[in-house]
Amino acid sequence: MHLTQPVIALSQPSAEEALIHLKEVWKVFKMPAGTFEALKNINLSIRSGEFVSVTGKSGSGKSTLVNMITGIDRPTRGEVRVNGTLLNTLSEGALSVWRGHNLGIVFQFFQLLPMLSVLENVMLPMDFCNRYDPAEREERAMALLRRVGLEKVAHKLPAALSGGQQQCAAIARALANDPPILVADEPTGNLDSRTAVQIMEIFTDLVAHGKTLVMVTHDLRLAQQAHRVLVISDGELIHPAIVARWPHLSHPRMRLLNRHLRSLRLPPATPLPACRWAMVLEGSLHPHPRRRSFLARLTPLEVGQWRAFSRAEEATTYAAGSRGALVLLLDEAAWESLRRDAPDLIATLQTRHGGPA
Ligand code: ADP
Ligand code: MG
Repeated sequence: MHLTQPVIALSQPSAEEALIHLKEVWKVFKMPAGTFEALKNINLSIRSGEFVSVTGKSGSGKSTLVNMITGIDRPTRGEVRVNGTLLNTLSEGALSVWRGHNLGIVFQFFQLLPMLSVLENVMLPMDFCNRYDPAEREERAMALLRRVGLEKVAHKLPAALSGGQQQCAAIARALANDPPILVADEPTGNLDSRTAVQIMEIFTDLVAHGKTLVMVTHDLRLAQQAHRVLVISDGELIHPAIVARWPHLSHPRMRLLNRHLRSLRLPPATPLPACRWAMVLEGSLHPHPRRRSFLARLTPLEVGQWRAFSRAEEATTYAAGSRGALVLLLDEAAWESLRRDAPDLIATLQTRHGGPA
C-alpha cells in the first residue's frame, strides 16, 4: 500500500496532540575551534500515527534531530517529550530501558550483530527488555521475520543476506517489542532503488497499522510518500507552510523567510494586526464586518491563501472568522528587511493569493 497524499500540512499539530514534542531544542557541539549550533530552536510536534519524513542537505542536522527523539543524544537546551516521557530527566540506564519499550530504530548500515543469526538478532531486544515470555520469543521473532519476507533465512548469519534483506531484518528487530514509534535514519541510503521501494512498502504498511514513523531521507520521491515532509536547513526547521507552498525555494531563501515569519493565533472575530503580508494556516480571515461596505473588493482568505498589503494598516480590515484563525505574518520591519535583502522573495510573496495548490 502506498500513501500518496500530497504534502499539504501548513501547520503542526499542537503540543497537546503530539506523541513526540520538541520544545525550543538547541544542540550545540563544543569543538576546539569554537562552538557549532547543530540544532537551532527546534519546535516540532508529531502526532500518533503520523508518517513524517525529515529531509535536508548532508550536515544540516537531520541525524542530530532524530537522535534527540531516540534519546541517543541529549539537547543542550530545550525539552524533548516522547510518548508522555520527558527524556531530559532520564539517566542513561533509564533511557535505554525506555527506548527498548517505546522506540524501534533503523539505521543506514543495519547494525545487526554479525555473530548472531538473523533470528537471534530479532530476539535480542526482547531479551534485553524482558518483554515477552522467554518461551514465546522465538515464535514472535519468526512471525516478525515472516512479515518482512525473511523466514527462509532466519537461521543464517547477517553476512549471508543481501543489503535489502539485512535492512528488512533490522526492521523486524526494531519491531521486536512492538514499540509505538519507529525512527529510521537514511534506511534506504545504502540500498538500490528497487530495494528501497520494498523497504518503503514495509514502512507504509506499518504506518497503515498504526505505527508512528519518523524517517530521514535524501530521496525526495521517498520523502513525499510521508504525510508530512520536514526540511532541516543549517540546523533550522523550516516552517511547514514554506515547504508546502514553495518547495523549490533555495535553502538560504527558506531560512531567510523562516526567520522573518511570525505565527499568531487569532480568536474568532479578532482583527488581523497591522502587517505587510499574511497567510492563513487554519480557520479563515474575512473583511472586517464594519468595514465591508468600503472594501467590497476584499475577498475572504481561506486555508493556504495569502495576501500582501500595500500599507500595514490595510491588514486590519481583515478579522478572523467564526472558528478563529492561525496566521503567518510578515510585519513592516520584516517586509522592509526582505525587500532590501531578497527582492526576489518579495516578488514570490506578492504573486497571487495562493489558492489551494
Ligand atoms: P545530517 O544527518 O543532516 O547529515 P548531522 O545531524 O549528522 O547531519 O550533523 C549536523 C552537523 O553537526 C554537521 O555539521 C556535523 O559535522 C555536526 N556534528 C554532528 N555530530 C557532532 C559531534 N558529535 N561533534 C561535533 N559536531 C557534530
Ligand atoms: Mg545523518
